[in-house]
Amino acid sequence: MLQNSNKQNNETMDKNLKLMGMSAIILVALFIYTIYKSSASIHSTSYYVGLIFLFILLFLSLLLRYYKDKIKKFLPQSRFSQELEKAKEKEHTPSESSSQITASSFLEFAQSSITFKDVAGIQSVKEELEEVVDFLNAPKKYLKHGIKLPKGVLLVGPPGVGKTLIARAVAGEAKVPFLYQSGASFVHIYVGMGAKRVKELFSKAKAHAPAIIFIDEIDAVGKSRSGNSNDEREATLNELLTQMDGFDGESGVIVIAATNKIEVLDEALLRAGRFDRRVFLNLPNIEDREKILSLYLKQKKYEFDIKELAFNTAGFSSAALATLINEALLNMVKRKESVLTIEDIETAKNKVEFGKKEKKILTTEQKEILAIYQACKAYISRYETTLFQEGIKSLTELFPSKTALMNHLRNYLAGSVGVEVIKGEAYVVSTQDLKEAYALAHKMVNEYKMANDALVLIESVRSDLKSEIYKHTNEVNRLKELILKQEVIKANDLSK
Ligand code: ADP
Repeated sequence: MLQNSNKQNNETMDKNLKLMGMSAIILVALFIYTIYKSSASIHSTSYYVGLIFLFILLFLSLLLRYYKDKIKKFLPQSRFSQELEKAKEKEHTPSESSSQITASSFLEFAQSSITFKDVAGIQSVKEELEEVVDFLNAPKKYLKHGIKLPKGVLLVGPPGVGKTLIARAVAGEAKVPFLYQSGASFVHIYVGMGAKRVKELFSKAKAHAPAIIFIDEIDAVGKSRSGNSNDEREATLNELLTQMDGFDGESGVIVIAATNKIEVLDEALLRAGRFDRRVFLNLPNIEDREKILSLYLKQKKYEFDIKELAFNTAGFSSAALATLINEALLNMVKRKESVLTIEDIETAKNKVEFGKKEKKILTTEQKEILAIYQACKAYISRYETTLFQEGIKSLTELFPSKTALMNHLRNYLAGSVGVEVIKGEAYVVSTQDLKEAYALAHKMVNEYKMANDALVLIESVRSDLKSEIYKHTNEVNRLKELILKQEVIKANDLSK
């Protein structure tokens, strides 16, 4: 839009100059014609004055046209040039193309030009999706062994971590059409239309197969059906389930959906044959941030250490990093310089920090508390853990043993107990873990009849954890330092 308005300004200026020149030429022609017709009656200098005036006009219009760029600089239009630069900057960031998709109208296919090389970091996510790409590229290879294409892939993660971008990259890599839909768009329309839209969406995708349907924020339509019901949403969700059951793995349509709230999704959506593939994306870790920053700083001149910047941007989502670099570049342009400095980054950081509510910027103490929390979880669970790991819904085992359930309880409670032991005071770090712990304890009492009292059960687990962590404070502290340094505790860090 910005570019359009600049273009319009330029066009108007050109038009005015042309008009000025044209009128001068016509007037000159008329003037010469008049002199020619009535040459006998010329007896005053006024004609010559007029002629000179017209020539000056013509000369001025040509001069203005020739020097119009230089003249523009002197006009009170500093915002004009700033905006032009801004538009140009945006043109070079990979984020632009994804916004185009959001704007695409209903049932419009797009051929994605994004590939995996536009997605920095998140290597494990790419690896998981490479199989889908290969399926789409060479279906025969799989079909001859009777292997079916996965129908649904659910990308789970907080906003701005690249869920849409990676889905587009899958489409781009496989060179198949990409159809974007937001979950909310099914619900926020006339009653009865949601289900119809879902039907249309699938039939169109099948007609264009192989193709990828991307449903953003699927929780808007796929929320659990229990509780106060919403008929429209339910009908839409039922249609979605029917459609997903209705095509087989050979149809070549893959549905990729994104959510940041897997816990609210209807269980039916997660059942086999629907979104049975789940890929979790977390906020980028330090290595990912370094790669994302390098991608956005590619072919730009800068005077700072990317590694250091990656360290200092803990908690930034990938989208926030992209915005940070863009804002910093804007600041550089404002200073009329061509080398990005750390001061540009700091100025931009303040803007991004205050402008984005959802972003987590942690103080050193907050970071330490979070690190203790995750270190205790890693120590107790023996699983790889990252600093910004979100609560992940545990998948229900078919026949869970009491030991397995008790282990889940320990994992949920380890963080909060650990912080209490090490800091000497209780802190609220993850209400999600607490909720899961209490919900599981109540289930163990009321449904599984494995204990008599949920609170007593929780208390006994907490006290075991307390003494265990207390005994191994040194090990927990080692893990804490590790996670503060590298933002991740890997499995082999634990076995030491
Ligand atoms: P989500 O769908 O998870 O909310 P998006 O895919 O819409 O996030 O990401 C928003 C923007 O952030 C993208 O358009 C892109 O500019 C940037 N971005 C996100 N993840 C990455 C990444 N891994 N590498 C490069 N840019 C990224």
